[in-house]
Amino acid sequence: MKDIPNIFGSMVFNDNVMRERLPENTYTALKKCIAEGKHLELDVANVVAGAMMNWAIEKGATHFTHWFQPMTGITAEKHDSFISPNEGGGIIMEFSGKALVKGEPDASSFPSGGLRATFEARGYTAWDPTSYAFIKDGSLCIPTAFCSYSGEALDKKTPLLRSMEAIDKQALRILRLFGNSSAKRVITTVGPEQEYFLIDNAVYEQRPDLMNCGRTLFGARPPKGQELEDHYFGSIKPRVSEFMKELDEELWKLGILSKTKHNEVAPAQHELAPVFATTNIATDHNQLTMEFMKIVAKRHGLVCLLHEKPFAAVNGSGKHNNWSISTDTGVNLLEPGETPYENAQFLLFLTAVIKAVDDYQDLLRVSAASAGNDHRLGANEAPPAIVSMFLGDELSDILEAIETGVGYIGKKKIQMEIGASVLPHFPKDTTDRNRTSPFAFTGNKFEFRMIGSAFSVSGPNIILNTIVSEELSQFADELEKGKDFKSDLTALIKRTIKGHKRIIFNGNNYTDEWIKEAEKRGLLNLKSTIDALPTFIEKKNIDLFTKHKVFSKTEMHSRYEILLENYCKTIHIEALTMLDMTKKNILPSCFAYQQELVRLALDKKALARSLNSSTEEKMLEKISALSGCLYAKIEKLETDILGIREHEQILDKATYYKEAIIADMAALRGVTDELETLSAKKFWPYPTYADILYSVK
Ligand code: ADP
Ligand code: MG
Repeated sequence: MKDIPNIFGSMVFNDNVMRERLPENTYTALKKCIAEGKHLELDVANVVAGAMMNWAIEKGATHFTHWFQPMTGITAEKHDSFISPNEGGGIIMEFSGKALVKGEPDASSFPSGGLRATFEARGYTAWDPTSYAFIKDGSLCIPTAFCSYSGEALDKKTPLLRSMEAIDKQALRILRLFGNSSAKRVITTVGPEQEYFLIDNAVYEQRPDLMNCGRTLFGARPPKGQELEDHYFGSIKPRVSEFMKELDEELWKLGILSKTKHNEVAPAQHELAPVFATTNIATDHNQLTMEFMKIVAKRHGLVCLLHEKPFAAVNGSGKHNNWSISTDTGVNLLEPGETPYENAQFLLFLTAVIKAVDDYQDLLRVSAASAGNDHRLGANEAPPAIVSMFLGDELSDILEAIETGVGYIGKKKIQMEIGASVLPHFPKDTTDRNRTSPFAFTGNKFEFRMIGSAFSVSGPNIILNTIVSEELSQFADELEKGKDFKSDLTALIKRTIKGHKRIIFNGNNYTDEWIKEAEKRGLLNLKSTIDALPTFIEKKNIDLFTKHKVFSKTEMHSRYEILLENYCKTIHIEALTMLDMTKKNILPSCFAYQQELVRLALDKKALARSLNSSTEEKMLEKISALSGCLYAKIEKLETDILGIREHEQILDKATYYKEAIIADMAALRGVTDELETLSAKKFWPYPTYADILYSVK
C-alpha cells in the first residue's frame, strides 16, 4: 500500500515546510502577510525565495514559473531556470525575492478585451501568498495574479481575491452586530464536483472535431446510449481505475484533497470531488485537477474530455459548485445552529443569499454562460436557464412561519420567533433530494449546479461572493443604524423573505409548467449566452462590482468583450471543422459508396438481364439525394461564414453566429447523421458514437 500521508502535499511548499525551513522571524512575517493580505518586504521575500529554491531543488526542480490564470480559462506559465552564470564560467543556482513576488510576462498575446489598446502591452504577475507554491513537472510554480501595468486585472484570480475581501468585510460587520468579536476573518469555501469523459486515444485521433473543438460535431445516435443508466455508480473498469488511482496520487502530491470518484450517468462519464477548501485555493486546485486529468489520461492511452457536451443525445458534463461561508475559527455560517442566537444569525445569512440570488439572477446566469454550456442548460439533464433556489420543504415551511408568524411543519403547528426559537432539526439527506434545481441548499452549504465542466470556478465564485457581500452590506447598514437589534432583525428577515420568496422553488425544474410559473413570478429566463452576457454590463451590475471594488467599469467591459469573442471564436472553429470534415472525407466517402453501388448494379445487368438491381438503385437514389442535400448545406454554411464580415460590433457578430451559423451547423449535421446511418461501415470515415463511447474496454 502507498504511504498516502507521506505522499500528500509532498510537492507543496506548505505551512509545515515553511515552519521547518524558514527562520522564525521570516515565518512569522510571512504568516502575517498571508493572514492580512499585505505585501511582503523584500528582505523577507529574499529569505523565503532562497528556502523555496533549496526545497525545490531537493525535489528535483530546475526551473521556476509564475503560474497564473489569464482569461483563456486555462493556466499559463513561463519557465526560467534557477541557473545564473558565475565568474569562473560555471553557474550558481539563484532565486531572488524579487523574482518570487513579481514577474513580467509579455501580456500582449493574452485576451484583454480592449484593455491592450488603452494601456501598455506589458503585464505583471504578483505572488498570491495565500496559495502555496508547488512543484509540477520539474518547475517550482508560484501562484500569481496577473494584471496590466496600470493595475487592471487580466486574469481570474485578482477579482476573486477582491471578492473574498469584500465578503470578509461585510460578513464581519454582521458578526460584530451579533456580538462576535473573536472572528478575525470570514472566508468562503468551495468544493467543486468535476464531471468528465474518458475515451481511447486511438478513436480520439481519428476525430478532427474532438481534436479541434473538444466535442463531436457529427454522430448518429448509438443503438445503446445511456437509456439503461447501467453505467451510473457502476463498477469502474480496470483501465479507468488505473487512471483514477494515478490521478489521485498526482493530486495528493499537490495537496489537493481528491476524495470521491465514481461513474456518472452517461457511458464513459465519470466524476471527481475533492474535500472543500478556501475558495481561491479550491479554484487553483480545480484548475490543476483539470490539467492533471488530461495529463494522466494521456499516460494511459486515454483522452479526458472536459467539454460540456462532447456527445449529442448523451448527458453532458457539469461542475457543481458547493459553496459556503465560514469564519477563520471554522464556524460554518450557513449551518443551522443549536441555539436561538445561532439560528438568528443563520437565518440572516440565509436570507442574504436568497435576496442575492433573486436580485442577481442575471449575474449567476452569466457566470454559467458559454458556447459549450449552451448545449446543456435548459436541456433535461442540467438545470434550466432559469435561476431559482431549492430550500427543501422543511426550511421553506420555517421561512413561511417566520414571515406569517405561524406555520406548519408536516402537521405540527410551529411558531417561529427569531432570536427566541430553535430551528427544528432537518436531516441533511432530505435537503438534497432535488437534483433539478440550479441552486440548492444542501444542509449547510449551497450547491450551484449550472456551471459547465470546462469552466474555471473563479467566475461563478466572484459573482457569488460579490452579490452576497452586497446584501450583507445592505443588512449591516440597516441594522447598525437601528435601535433595537432583535426587533430590527426580525423585521428585516420577514421583509426579505416576503420580498424575495419568488426565487424559491422546490419542485421539478425540468417541467414546462415551471417555465410558465417562473414567467408569472417575473423570473428571468436568459436562454442562451447571447441573451445572458449583455446583462453583465447593465448599470445595476456595474454599480455592484465597482462599489465592492471587485471590477472597475473598464474591467467589466473588457471581460464582456472577451466572453463574446470566445463565443464567436468557438463557433467559428466548429463551423470550419465541419466544413473540413464534410468536404475532405464525408462527401467523398458518400461518393465512393455510390460508385460501388453503381458498379454492382451495372455488373449485375451486364451479367444477366434477369438479375435484380432494384435494392442497389433504391439505396443509390437515397444516398445520392442526401449527398446533394449535404452539398447544399455546405454551400449555405460557406456563404453565411462570408457574411460574418458584415458584423463589426461584437454583440452583433455573436448574435449572427448564434442565429445564422449555429442553425446552418445543425442543418448540416442532420443530413450527415442520416447519411451515417445509411452508409456501409467500411465507407464511413470516422469512428461512430458507439465506437467512441465504448472505446475504453
Ligand atoms: P453530492 O452533491 O454528490 O451529494 P457531497 O455531499 O459529497 O456530494 O459533497 C459535495 C461537495 O461539497 C464536496 O466537495 C464537499 O467537500 C463539499 N462541501 C461540503 N461542505 C462544504 C462547505 N461547507 N463549503 C463548501 N463545500 C462543501
Ligand atoms: Mg452534487
